[in-house]
Amino acid sequence: MSAVMKDFPTSVNQQFLATPKKMLINGKWVPALSGKTFEVMDPSTAEPIARVAEGEKEDIDIAVRAARAAFESGPWPAMTPSQRGKLVWKIGELIAQHADELAELETLNNGKPLAVAKAADIPLAADIFQYMAGWTTKIEGKTIPLSVLYTPGARYHSYTLPEPIGVVGQIIPWNFPLLMAAWKLAPALATGCTIVLKVAEETPLSALRLGELLQEAGLPDGVVNIVTGFGETAGAALAAHPGVDKIAFTGSTEVGRLIVQAAARDLKHVSLELGGKSPNIVLEDADLDVAIPGAANAVFFNHGQCCCAGSRLYAQRKIYDQVVEGVAAQARSIKLGSGLDPSTQMGPMVSETQRNRVCGYLDSGRKDGARAITGGKPRDGAGYFIEPTVFVDTQPNMKIVQEEIFGPVVTVAPFDEVNEELVRAANDTIYGLAAGIWTRDVSKAHTLAARLKTGTVWINCYNIFDAALPFGGYKQSGWGREMGEAVLENYLNTKAVTIGL
Ligand code: NAP
Ligand code: MG
Repeated sequence: MSAVMKDFPTSVNQQFLATPKKMLINGKWVPALSGKTFEVMDPSTAEPIARVAEGEKEDIDIAVRAARAAFESGPWPAMTPSQRGKLVWKIGELIAQHADELAELETLNNGKPLAVAKAADIPLAADIFQYMAGWTTKIEGKTIPLSVLYTPGARYHSYTLPEPIGVVGQIIPWNFPLLMAAWKLAPALATGCTIVLKVAEETPLSALRLGELLQEAGLPDGVVNIVTGFGETAGAALAAHPGVDKIAFTGSTEVGRLIVQAAARDLKHVSLELGGKSPNIVLEDADLDVAIPGAANAVFFNHGQCCCAGSRLYAQRKIYDQVVEGVAAQARSIKLGSGLDPSTQMGPMVSETQRNRVCGYLDSGRKDGARAITGGKPRDGAGYFIEPTVFVDTQPNMKIVQEEIFGPVVTVAPFDEVNEELVRAANDTIYGLAAGIWTRDVSKAHTLAARLKTGTVWINCYNIFDAALPFGGYKQSGWGREMGEAVLENYLNTKAVTIGL
Protein backbone atom coordinates (compact mmCIF):
# COMPACT_ATOMS: atom_id res chain seq x y z
CA MET A 1 0.00 0.00 0.00
CA SER A 2 1.41 3.38 -0.96
CA ALA A 3 1.85 6.17 1.57
CA VAL A 4 -1.08 8.10 0.07
CA MET A 5 -3.46 5.22 0.54
CA LYS A 6 -2.70 4.61 4.21
CA ASP A 7 -5.07 7.47 4.94
CA PHE A 8 -8.04 5.48 3.60
CA PRO A 9 -10.69 4.82 4.52
CA THR A 10 -11.14 8.09 6.35
CA SER A 11 -12.53 7.87 9.88
CA VAL A 12 -16.16 8.52 8.94
CA ASN A 13 -16.14 5.55 6.57
CA GLN A 14 -14.09 3.42 8.98
CA GLN A 15 -16.95 3.87 11.40
CA PHE A 16 -19.54 3.12 8.73
CA LEU A 17 -17.77 -0.07 7.68
CA ALA A 18 -16.97 -1.32 11.17
CA THR A 19 -20.39 -2.82 11.91
CA PRO A 20 -22.33 -5.30 9.72
CA LYS A 21 -24.58 -3.28 7.46
CA LYS A 22 -28.31 -3.74 7.85
CA MET A 23 -31.16 -3.12 5.42
CA LEU A 24 -33.55 -0.18 5.47
CA ILE A 25 -37.08 -1.52 5.76
CA ASN A 26 -40.02 0.56 6.95
CA GLY A 27 -37.70 3.21 8.34
CA LYS A 28 -35.71 0.77 10.49
CA TRP A 29 -32.27 -0.73 9.96
CA VAL A 30 -32.82 -4.47 10.18
CA PRO A 31 -30.81 -7.68 9.65
CA ALA A 32 -32.05 -10.35 7.23
CA LEU A 33 -34.78 -12.51 8.77
CA SER A 34 -32.51 -15.52 8.24
CA GLY A 35 -29.66 -13.72 10.04
CA LYS A 36 -27.44 -14.39 6.99
CA THR A 37 -24.79 -11.92 5.90
CA PHE A 38 -22.22 -11.78 3.10
CA GLU A 39 -18.86 -10.11 2.51
CA VAL A 40 -18.30 -7.11 0.29
CA MET A 41 -14.86 -6.68 -1.28
CA ASP A 42 -12.43 -4.00 -2.35
CA PRO A 43 -11.79 -5.10 -5.95
CA SER A 44 -8.35 -3.49 -6.05
CA THR A 45 -7.07 -5.82 -3.31
CA ALA A 46 -9.69 -8.63 -3.30
CA GLU A 47 -9.88 -8.05 0.48
CA PRO A 48 -13.21 -7.87 2.32
CA ILE A 49 -14.22 -4.40 3.52
CA ALA A 50 -17.66 -4.93 5.02
CA ARG A 51 -20.40 -7.39 5.89
CA VAL A 52 -23.91 -6.88 4.61
CA ALA A 53 -27.28 -8.47 5.35
CA GLU A 54 -28.34 -11.15 2.88
CA GLY A 55 -31.95 -10.30 2.21
CA GLU A 56 -34.12 -12.97 0.60
CA LYS A 57 -37.72 -13.59 -0.41
CA GLU A 58 -39.16 -13.03 3.10
CA ASP A 59 -37.28 -9.77 3.54
CA ILE A 60 -38.50 -8.58 0.14
CA ASP A 61 -42.03 -9.45 1.21
CA ILE A 62 -41.79 -7.30 4.35
CA ALA A 63 -40.24 -4.45 2.36
CA VAL A 64 -43.01 -4.59 -0.26
CA ARG A 65 -45.68 -4.51 2.46
CA ALA A 66 -43.98 -1.49 4.03
CA ALA A 67 -43.87 0.25 0.65
CA ARG A 68 -47.56 -0.56 0.08
CA ALA A 69 -48.57 0.84 3.46
CA ALA A 70 -46.52 3.99 2.82
CA PHE A 71 -48.13 4.39 -0.61
CA GLU A 72 -51.73 3.95 0.55
CA SER A 73 -51.69 5.89 3.80
CA GLY A 74 -49.52 7.97 6.10
CA PRO A 75 -47.68 11.19 5.40
CA TRP A 76 -46.36 10.44 1.89
CA PRO A 77 -49.58 10.46 -0.18
CA ALA A 78 -50.84 13.38 1.95
CA MET A 79 -47.91 15.62 1.04
CA THR A 80 -48.40 18.40 -1.48
CA PRO A 81 -46.24 18.30 -4.62
CA SER A 82 -44.31 21.26 -3.26
CA GLN A 83 -43.58 19.52 0.05
CA ARG A 84 -42.47 16.43 -1.85
CA GLY A 85 -40.28 18.57 -4.11
CA LYS A 86 -38.51 20.19 -1.16
CA LEU A 87 -37.82 16.80 0.35
CA VAL A 88 -36.42 15.42 -2.91
CA TRP A 89 -34.27 18.57 -3.28
CA LYS A 90 -32.99 18.07 0.26
CA ILE A 91 -31.78 14.56 -0.64
CA GLY A 92 -29.66 16.07 -3.42
CA GLU A 93 -28.33 18.66 -1.00
CA LEU A 94 -27.32 16.00 1.53
CA ILE A 95 -25.57 13.95 -1.15
CA ALA A 96 -23.59 17.05 -2.17
CA GLN A 97 -22.74 17.78 1.47
CA HIS A 98 -21.42 14.26 1.94
CA ALA A 99 -19.72 14.08 -1.46
CA ASP A 100 -16.24 13.24 -0.21
CA GLU A 101 -17.25 10.39 2.00
CA LEU A 102 -19.66 8.95 -0.61
CA ALA A 103 -16.99 9.18 -3.32
CA GLU A 104 -14.55 7.32 -1.10
CA LEU A 105 -17.10 4.57 -0.38
CA GLU A 106 -17.76 4.25 -4.10
CA THR A 107 -14.04 3.92 -4.84
CA LEU A 108 -13.46 1.42 -2.05
CA ASN A 109 -16.33 -0.77 -3.14
CA ASN A 110 -16.38 -0.37 -6.93
CA GLY A 111 -12.69 0.34 -7.62
CA LYS A 112 -13.16 3.46 -9.75
CA PRO A 113 -10.66 6.33 -9.38
CA LEU A 114 -11.62 8.69 -6.56
CA ALA A 115 -11.34 11.67 -8.90
CA VAL A 116 -13.94 10.10 -11.20
CA ALA A 117 -16.32 9.36 -8.33
CA LYS A 118 -15.90 12.97 -7.16
CA ALA A 119 -16.28 14.54 -10.60
CA ALA A 120 -19.02 12.33 -12.02
CA ASP A 121 -20.84 9.79 -9.85
CA ILE A 122 -21.58 11.90 -6.79
CA PRO A 123 -22.44 15.29 -8.36
CA LEU A 124 -24.63 13.60 -10.99
CA ALA A 125 -26.40 11.67 -8.24
CA ALA A 126 -27.05 14.88 -6.29
CA ASP A 127 -28.17 16.67 -9.44
CA ILE A 128 -30.80 14.15 -10.54
CA PHE A 129 -32.60 14.58 -7.20
CA GLN A 130 -32.55 18.36 -7.61
CA TYR A 131 -33.66 18.19 -11.24
CA MET A 132 -36.51 15.82 -10.33
CA ALA A 133 -37.47 17.99 -7.35
CA GLY A 134 -38.52 20.61 -9.90
CA TRP A 135 -40.84 18.18 -11.67
CA THR A 136 -42.97 17.42 -8.60
CA THR A 137 -44.95 20.63 -9.09
CA LYS A 138 -45.12 20.36 -12.87
CA ILE A 139 -46.72 16.97 -13.40
CA GLU A 140 -49.96 18.10 -15.01
CA GLY A 141 -52.94 16.56 -16.76
CA LYS A 142 -54.85 17.98 -19.72
CA THR A 143 -58.39 19.08 -20.38
CA ILE A 144 -59.66 17.28 -23.46
CA PRO A 145 -62.50 18.46 -25.73
CA LEU A 146 -64.90 15.57 -26.53
CA SER A 147 -67.18 15.04 -29.53
CA VAL A 148 -68.87 11.71 -28.50
CA LEU A 149 -70.58 11.04 -31.81
CA TYR A 150 -73.30 8.76 -30.36
CA THR A 151 -74.64 11.35 -27.84
CA PRO A 152 -75.58 14.27 -30.07
CA GLY A 153 -75.99 17.50 -28.14
CA ALA A 154 -74.64 16.17 -24.86
CA ARG A 155 -71.71 18.00 -23.33
CA TYR A 156 -68.86 16.68 -21.26
CA HIS A 157 -65.89 18.01 -19.38
CA SER A 158 -62.92 15.64 -19.51
CA TYR A 159 -59.53 15.86 -17.96
CA THR A 160 -56.61 13.57 -17.25
CA LEU A 161 -54.95 12.97 -13.90
CA PRO A 162 -51.38 11.67 -13.93
CA GLU A 163 -51.10 9.45 -10.85
CA PRO A 164 -48.15 7.59 -9.31
CA ILE A 165 -48.01 4.03 -10.58
CA GLY A 166 -47.74 2.64 -7.02
CA VAL A 167 -45.19 0.40 -5.37
CA VAL A 168 -42.08 0.17 -7.51
CA GLY A 169 -39.39 -2.51 -7.38
CA GLN A 170 -36.03 -1.23 -8.58
CA ILE A 171 -33.02 -3.44 -9.33
CA ILE A 172 -29.66 -1.84 -10.10
CA PRO A 173 -26.13 -2.87 -11.14
CA TRP A 174 -22.66 -2.20 -9.78
CA ASN A 175 -21.02 0.04 -12.39
CA PHE A 176 -22.23 3.38 -10.95
CA PRO A 177 -23.71 2.21 -7.65
CA LEU A 178 -24.92 5.50 -6.13
CA LEU A 179 -25.77 7.10 -9.46
CA MET A 180 -27.88 4.15 -10.58
CA ALA A 181 -29.75 4.31 -7.26
CA ALA A 182 -30.26 8.05 -7.79
CA TRP A 183 -31.45 7.67 -11.41
CA LYS A 184 -34.05 5.21 -10.19
CA LEU A 185 -35.14 6.73 -6.88
CA ALA A 186 -35.38 10.41 -7.86
CA PRO A 187 -38.12 10.15 -10.53
CA ALA A 188 -40.05 7.54 -8.55
CA LEU A 189 -40.08 9.87 -5.54
CA ALA A 190 -40.92 12.91 -7.67
CA THR A 191 -44.02 11.15 -8.98
CA GLY A 192 -45.11 10.01 -5.50
CA CYS A 193 -44.36 6.30 -5.78
CA THR A 194 -42.92 4.18 -2.99
CA ILE A 195 -39.99 1.92 -3.58
CA VAL A 196 -38.17 -1.29 -2.77
CA LEU A 197 -34.62 -0.96 -4.09
CA LYS A 198 -32.47 -4.09 -4.55
CA VAL A 199 -28.86 -3.03 -4.91
CA ALA A 200 -26.12 -5.07 -6.61
CA GLU A 201 -24.45 -7.69 -4.44
CA GLU A 202 -20.98 -6.34 -5.31
CA THR A 203 -21.62 -2.69 -4.43
CA PRO A 204 -24.28 -2.13 -1.76
CA LEU A 205 -22.41 0.35 0.44
CA SER A 206 -23.09 3.79 -1.04
CA ALA A 207 -26.82 3.05 -1.38
CA LEU A 208 -26.94 2.04 2.29
CA ARG A 209 -25.27 5.32 3.23
CA LEU A 210 -27.80 7.06 0.99
CA GLY A 211 -30.51 5.33 3.02
CA GLU A 212 -29.24 7.15 6.10
CA LEU A 213 -29.34 10.43 4.18
CA LEU A 214 -32.93 9.74 3.05
CA GLN A 215 -33.88 9.43 6.70
CA GLU A 216 -31.99 12.62 7.55
CA ALA A 217 -33.87 14.41 4.77
CA GLY A 218 -37.10 13.41 6.50
CA LEU A 219 -38.48 10.86 4.05
CA PRO A 220 -41.38 9.08 5.77
CA ASP A 221 -40.87 5.45 6.83
CA GLY A 222 -41.45 2.84 4.16
CA VAL A 223 -41.25 5.23 1.19
CA VAL A 224 -37.83 3.88 0.23
CA ASN A 225 -36.78 0.43 1.41
CA ILE A 226 -33.31 -0.81 0.57
CA VAL A 227 -32.65 -4.54 0.41
CA THR A 228 -29.20 -6.07 0.01
CA GLY A 229 -28.84 -9.61 -1.29
CA PHE A 230 -28.42 -11.64 -4.46
CA GLY A 231 -30.16 -11.37 -7.79
CA GLU A 232 -31.36 -14.94 -7.98
CA THR A 233 -33.06 -14.73 -4.57
CA ALA A 234 -33.88 -11.16 -3.48
CA GLY A 235 -33.96 -9.73 -7.03
CA ALA A 236 -36.10 -12.53 -8.46
CA ALA A 237 -38.50 -12.32 -5.48
CA LEU A 238 -38.95 -8.59 -6.05
CA ALA A 239 -39.58 -9.01 -9.79
CA ALA A 240 -42.20 -11.69 -9.10
CA HIS A 241 -43.88 -10.12 -6.05
CA PRO A 242 -47.62 -9.63 -6.59
CA GLY A 243 -47.60 -6.52 -4.37
CA VAL A 244 -45.31 -4.65 -6.76
CA ASP A 245 -46.95 -2.53 -9.49
CA LYS A 246 -43.87 -1.83 -11.54
CA ILE A 247 -40.31 -3.06 -11.95
CA ALA A 248 -37.50 -0.79 -13.11
CA PHE A 249 -34.33 -2.68 -13.94
CA THR A 250 -30.82 -1.79 -15.06
CA GLY A 251 -28.37 -4.55 -15.90
CA SER A 252 -27.70 -7.24 -18.46
CA THR A 253 -30.06 -8.01 -21.33
CA GLU A 254 -30.06 -11.64 -20.17
CA VAL A 255 -31.42 -10.76 -16.71
CA GLY A 256 -33.72 -8.18 -18.35
CA ARG A 257 -35.47 -11.10 -20.07
CA LEU A 258 -35.86 -12.90 -16.71
CA ILE A 259 -37.39 -9.75 -15.23
CA VAL A 260 -39.93 -9.56 -18.04
CA GLN A 261 -40.84 -13.22 -17.55
CA ALA A 262 -41.25 -12.77 -13.79
CA ALA A 263 -43.31 -9.62 -14.30
CA ALA A 264 -45.51 -11.30 -16.93
CA ARG A 265 -47.32 -13.40 -14.33
CA ASP A 266 -49.28 -10.43 -13.04
CA LEU A 267 -48.53 -8.07 -15.95
CA LYS A 268 -46.50 -5.59 -13.94
CA HIS A 269 -45.29 -2.53 -15.76
CA VAL A 270 -41.61 -2.90 -16.66
CA SER A 271 -38.89 -0.49 -17.72
CA LEU A 272 -35.45 -1.78 -18.66
CA GLU A 273 -32.07 -0.15 -19.15
CA LEU A 274 -29.97 -2.94 -20.59
CA GLY A 275 -26.72 -3.62 -22.35
CA GLY A 276 -25.10 -2.00 -25.33
CA LYS A 277 -22.46 -2.50 -27.99
CA SER A 278 -22.23 1.05 -29.14
CA PRO A 279 -20.66 1.99 -32.48
CA ASN A 280 -18.33 4.96 -32.49
CA ILE A 281 -17.68 6.25 -36.00
CA VAL A 282 -14.74 8.46 -36.98
CA LEU A 283 -15.01 10.11 -40.41
CA GLU A 284 -11.90 11.14 -42.34
CA ASP A 285 -12.65 14.85 -41.92
CA ALA A 286 -12.85 14.63 -38.09
CA ASP A 287 -10.59 16.68 -35.86
CA LEU A 288 -8.43 13.76 -34.75
CA ASP A 289 -6.93 15.73 -31.87
CA VAL A 290 -10.39 15.55 -30.34
CA ALA A 291 -11.69 12.32 -31.87
CA ILE A 292 -8.80 10.05 -30.81
CA PRO A 293 -8.83 10.88 -27.09
CA GLY A 294 -12.62 11.01 -27.38
CA ALA A 295 -12.77 7.50 -28.80
CA ALA A 296 -10.41 6.23 -26.09
CA ASN A 297 -12.51 7.84 -23.37
CA ALA A 298 -15.68 6.46 -24.97
CA VAL A 299 -14.58 2.91 -24.26
CA PHE A 300 -12.10 3.15 -21.37
CA PHE A 301 -14.11 5.46 -19.09
CA ASN A 302 -15.16 3.57 -15.94
CA HIS A 303 -12.93 0.66 -17.09
CA GLY A 304 -15.32 -0.05 -19.94
CA GLN A 305 -17.98 -0.94 -17.40
CA CYS A 306 -20.53 1.37 -19.03
CA CYS A 307 -23.65 0.19 -20.80
CA CYS A 308 -23.03 2.90 -23.43
CA ALA A 309 -19.28 2.20 -23.85
CA GLY A 310 -18.13 2.99 -27.40
CA SER A 311 -16.82 -0.54 -27.79
CA ARG A 312 -17.05 -0.85 -31.60
CA LEU A 313 -14.87 1.77 -33.20
CA TYR A 314 -15.18 2.37 -36.96
CA ALA A 315 -12.58 4.58 -38.66
CA GLN A 316 -12.62 5.69 -42.29
CA ARG A 317 -9.88 3.99 -44.32
CA LYS A 318 -7.75 7.11 -44.89
CA ILE A 319 -7.35 7.76 -41.15
CA TYR A 320 -7.74 4.18 -39.92
CA ASP A 321 -4.07 3.60 -39.05
CA GLN A 322 -3.80 6.94 -37.31
CA VAL A 323 -6.93 6.25 -35.22
CA VAL A 324 -5.81 2.72 -34.32
CA GLU A 325 -2.35 3.93 -33.31
CA GLY A 326 -3.74 6.95 -31.48
CA VAL A 327 -6.27 4.98 -29.44
CA ALA A 328 -3.68 2.26 -28.73
CA ALA A 329 -1.23 4.92 -27.52
CA GLN A 330 -3.93 6.30 -25.21
CA ALA A 331 -4.62 2.76 -23.95
CA ARG A 332 -0.93 2.15 -23.24
CA SER A 333 -0.63 5.37 -21.31
CA ILE A 334 -3.49 4.60 -18.89
CA LYS A 335 -2.17 4.02 -15.39
CA LEU A 336 -3.86 1.10 -13.66
CA GLY A 337 -4.08 0.95 -9.89
CA SER A 338 -6.16 1.40 -6.79
CA GLY A 339 -8.78 4.08 -7.24
CA LEU A 340 -7.59 5.64 -3.98
CA ASP A 341 -4.19 6.42 -5.48
CA PRO A 342 -4.50 9.88 -7.06
CA SER A 343 -2.26 8.92 -9.98
CA THR A 344 -4.58 6.06 -11.00
CA GLN A 345 -6.52 6.48 -14.23
CA MET A 346 -8.17 3.07 -14.35
CA GLY A 347 -9.11 0.82 -11.45
CA PRO A 348 -9.90 -2.90 -11.37
CA MET A 349 -12.91 -4.73 -12.75
CA VAL A 350 -15.58 -4.81 -10.08
CA SER A 351 -15.24 -8.51 -9.22
CA GLU A 352 -13.44 -11.73 -9.99
CA THR A 353 -16.47 -12.87 -11.97
CA GLN A 354 -16.36 -9.76 -14.11
CA ARG A 355 -12.59 -10.03 -14.59
CA ASN A 356 -13.02 -13.65 -15.70
CA ARG A 357 -15.89 -12.76 -18.02
CA VAL A 358 -13.77 -10.10 -19.73
CA CYS A 359 -10.79 -12.52 -19.96
CA GLY A 360 -13.13 -15.00 -21.65
CA TYR A 361 -13.80 -12.39 -24.35
CA LEU A 362 -10.08 -11.66 -24.74
CA ASP A 363 -9.48 -15.38 -25.37
CA SER A 364 -12.44 -15.61 -27.70
CA GLY A 365 -11.20 -12.64 -29.76
CA ARG A 366 -7.76 -14.20 -30.16
CA LYS A 367 -9.18 -17.63 -31.06
CA ASP A 368 -11.41 -16.03 -33.68
CA GLY A 369 -8.36 -14.42 -35.31
CA ALA A 370 -8.52 -10.86 -34.00
CA ARG A 371 -5.24 -9.24 -32.94
CA ALA A 372 -4.75 -7.28 -29.72
CA ILE A 373 -2.29 -4.53 -30.63
CA THR A 374 -2.14 -3.48 -27.01
CA GLY A 375 -3.32 -5.10 -23.79
CA GLY A 376 -5.17 -8.37 -24.20
CA LYS A 377 -4.58 -9.84 -20.76
CA PRO A 378 -5.23 -9.39 -17.05
CA ARG A 379 -2.55 -7.76 -14.92
CA ASP A 380 -0.64 -10.07 -12.60
CA GLY A 381 -0.97 -9.67 -8.85
CA ALA A 382 -3.80 -8.80 -6.48
CA GLY A 383 -6.99 -7.14 -7.63
CA TYR A 384 -9.09 -7.68 -10.74
CA PHE A 385 -7.16 -5.57 -13.25
CA ILE A 386 -7.37 -5.90 -17.04
CA GLU A 387 -5.05 -4.13 -19.44
CA PRO A 388 -6.84 -1.67 -21.75
CA THR A 389 -7.12 -3.58 -25.01
CA VAL A 390 -7.43 -2.62 -28.68
CA PHE A 391 -8.42 -5.40 -31.11
CA VAL A 392 -7.93 -5.11 -34.88
CA ASP A 393 -8.42 -7.64 -37.73
CA THR A 394 -11.94 -8.31 -36.52
CA GLN A 395 -14.91 -9.72 -38.44
CA PRO A 396 -18.48 -8.55 -37.93
CA ASN A 397 -19.68 -11.93 -36.66
CA MET A 398 -17.03 -12.36 -33.96
CA LYS A 399 -18.29 -12.54 -30.38
CA ILE A 400 -16.06 -9.60 -29.42
CA VAL A 401 -17.85 -7.49 -32.04
CA GLN A 402 -21.38 -8.70 -31.26
CA GLU A 403 -21.53 -9.13 -27.48
CA GLU A 404 -21.28 -6.69 -24.61
CA ILE A 405 -17.89 -7.20 -22.95
CA PHE A 406 -18.25 -4.60 -20.19
CA GLY A 407 -14.53 -4.18 -19.84
CA PRO A 408 -11.75 -1.97 -21.30
CA VAL A 409 -11.82 -3.62 -24.70
CA VAL A 410 -12.43 -1.97 -28.07
CA THR A 411 -12.59 -3.44 -31.56
CA VAL A 412 -11.56 -1.22 -34.48
CA ALA A 413 -12.64 -1.76 -38.07
CA PRO A 414 -12.10 0.34 -41.20
CA PHE A 415 -14.85 1.58 -43.55
CA ASP A 416 -14.58 3.19 -46.99
CA GLU A 417 -17.59 5.44 -47.45
CA VAL A 418 -20.33 7.02 -45.39
CA ASN A 419 -23.07 4.92 -46.96
CA GLU A 420 -25.65 2.19 -46.37
CA GLU A 421 -22.93 -0.36 -45.71
CA LEU A 422 -21.57 1.72 -42.83
CA VAL A 423 -25.06 2.24 -41.40
CA ARG A 424 -25.73 -1.50 -41.65
CA ALA A 425 -22.46 -2.33 -39.87
CA ALA A 426 -23.14 0.22 -37.14
CA ASN A 427 -26.65 -1.16 -36.55
CA ASP A 428 -25.61 -4.80 -36.80
CA THR A 429 -26.03 -5.97 -33.18
CA ILE A 430 -29.03 -6.80 -31.01
CA TYR A 431 -28.35 -3.59 -29.06
CA GLY A 432 -29.27 0.04 -29.65
CA LEU A 433 -28.19 2.09 -26.68
CA ALA A 434 -25.77 4.76 -27.91
CA ALA A 435 -23.52 5.77 -30.79
CA GLY A 436 -20.77 8.29 -31.48
CA ILE A 437 -19.96 10.23 -34.66
CA TRP A 438 -16.83 12.33 -35.18
CA THR A 439 -16.86 14.66 -38.19
CA ARG A 440 -16.69 18.33 -39.20
CA ASP A 441 -19.38 17.75 -41.84
CA VAL A 442 -22.69 18.84 -40.30
CA SER A 443 -24.76 17.29 -43.05
CA LYS A 444 -23.11 13.87 -42.71
CA ALA A 445 -23.39 14.08 -38.92
CA HIS A 446 -27.15 14.69 -38.93
CA THR A 447 -27.81 12.20 -41.72
CA LEU A 448 -25.92 9.45 -39.89
CA ALA A 449 -27.49 10.34 -36.54
CA ALA A 450 -30.94 9.82 -38.04
CA ARG A 451 -29.99 6.40 -39.45
CA LEU A 452 -28.50 4.92 -36.28
CA LYS A 453 -30.95 2.78 -34.32
CA THR A 454 -29.85 3.96 -30.89
CA GLY A 455 -31.44 5.93 -28.06
CA THR A 456 -28.50 8.33 -27.80
CA VAL A 457 -26.18 9.78 -30.45
CA TRP A 458 -23.17 11.85 -29.45
CA ILE A 459 -21.53 13.97 -32.18
CA ASN A 460 -17.97 15.18 -31.55
CA CYS A 461 -18.36 14.20 -27.89
CA TYR A 462 -19.14 11.06 -25.90
CA ASN A 463 -20.48 10.08 -22.47
CA ILE A 464 -22.29 13.39 -22.06
CA PHE A 465 -25.00 12.84 -19.47
CA ASP A 466 -27.37 15.33 -17.97
CA ALA A 467 -30.35 14.97 -15.66
CA ALA A 468 -32.44 16.77 -18.31
CA LEU A 469 -31.44 14.47 -21.18
CA PRO A 470 -33.38 11.22 -21.69
CA PHE A 471 -31.22 8.08 -21.85
CA GLY A 472 -32.28 4.60 -22.89
CA GLY A 473 -32.24 1.97 -25.56
CA TYR A 474 -33.67 0.96 -28.90
CA LYS A 475 -33.93 -2.74 -29.77
CA GLN A 476 -32.71 -5.07 -26.99
CA SER A 477 -31.08 -2.24 -25.05
CA GLY A 478 -34.25 -1.52 -23.17
CA TRP A 479 -37.75 -0.22 -22.66
CA GLY A 480 -38.40 3.33 -21.48
CA ARG A 481 -36.02 6.13 -20.64
CA GLU A 482 -34.02 7.25 -17.64
CA MET A 483 -33.81 10.96 -16.77
CA GLY A 484 -35.35 14.00 -18.40
CA GLU A 485 -39.09 14.53 -18.58
CA ALA A 486 -39.32 11.17 -20.37
CA VAL A 487 -38.55 9.10 -17.26
CA LEU A 488 -41.68 10.36 -15.50
CA GLU A 489 -43.76 8.15 -17.81
CA ASN A 490 -42.13 5.12 -16.18
CA TYR A 491 -43.74 6.00 -12.89
CA LEU A 492 -47.11 7.51 -13.82
CA ASN A 493 -50.52 6.16 -14.76
CA THR A 494 -52.99 8.34 -16.63
CA LYS A 495 -56.55 8.50 -15.37
CA ALA A 496 -59.20 10.01 -17.67
CA VAL A 497 -62.09 11.65 -15.80
CA THR A 498 -65.28 12.64 -17.64
CA ILE A 499 -68.18 14.67 -16.24
CA GLY A 500 -71.50 14.95 -18.02
CA LEU A 501 -72.55 18.60 -17.99
P1 NAP B 1 -26.90 -8.58 -13.89
O1 NAP B 1 -26.84 -9.98 -13.45
O2 NAP B 1 -27.85 -8.19 -14.96
O3 NAP B 1 -27.17 -7.71 -12.57
C1 NAP B 1 -27.90 -6.53 -12.48
C2 NAP B 1 -28.82 -6.58 -11.28
O4 NAP B 1 -29.79 -7.61 -11.46
C3 NAP B 1 -28.11 -6.89 -9.98
O5 NAP B 1 -28.73 -6.19 -8.92
C4 NAP B 1 -28.37 -8.37 -9.84
O6 NAP B 1 -28.28 -8.83 -8.51
C5 NAP B 1 -29.77 -8.49 -10.35
N1 NAP B 1 -30.17 -9.82 -10.77
C6 NAP B 1 -29.39 -10.83 -11.21
N2 NAP B 1 -30.14 -11.91 -11.51
C7 NAP B 1 -31.43 -11.58 -11.25
C8 NAP B 1 -32.67 -12.27 -11.36
N3 NAP B 1 -32.75 -13.52 -11.79
N4 NAP B 1 -33.80 -11.61 -11.01
C9 NAP B 1 -33.75 -10.34 -10.58
N5 NAP B 1 -32.61 -9.65 -10.45
C10 NAP B 1 -31.46 -10.25 -10.79
O7 NAP B 1 -25.49 -8.09 -14.30
P2 NAP B 1 -24.09 -8.66 -13.75
O8 NAP B 1 -24.08 -10.16 -13.59
O9 NAP B 1 -23.74 -7.91 -12.56
O10 NAP B 1 -23.19 -8.31 -14.99
C11 NAP B 1 -23.28 -9.15 -16.13
C12 NAP B 1 -23.21 -8.38 -17.40
O11 NAP B 1 -24.31 -7.49 -17.45
C13 NAP B 1 -22.01 -7.47 -17.56
O12 NAP B 1 -20.90 -8.12 -18.04
C14 NAP B 1 -22.54 -6.48 -18.52
O13 NAP B 1 -22.44 -6.96 -19.82
C15 NAP B 1 -23.99 -6.35 -18.17
N6 NAP B 1 -24.28 -5.18 -17.31
C16 NAP B 1 -24.91 -4.15 -17.89
C17 NAP B 1 -25.19 -3.04 -17.13
C18 NAP B 1 -25.88 -1.87 -17.71
O14 NAP B 1 -25.83 -0.78 -17.12
N7 NAP B 1 -26.56 -2.00 -18.82
C19 NAP B 1 -24.82 -2.97 -15.79
C20 NAP B 1 -24.18 -4.07 -15.22
C21 NAP B 1 -23.94 -5.17 -16.00
P3 NAP B 1 -26.86 -9.33 -7.91
O15 NAP B 1 -25.82 -8.51 -8.50
O16 NAP B 1 -27.02 -9.06 -6.48
O17 NAP B 1 -26.76 -10.77 -8.22
MG1 MG C 1 -25.32 -11.83 -9.05
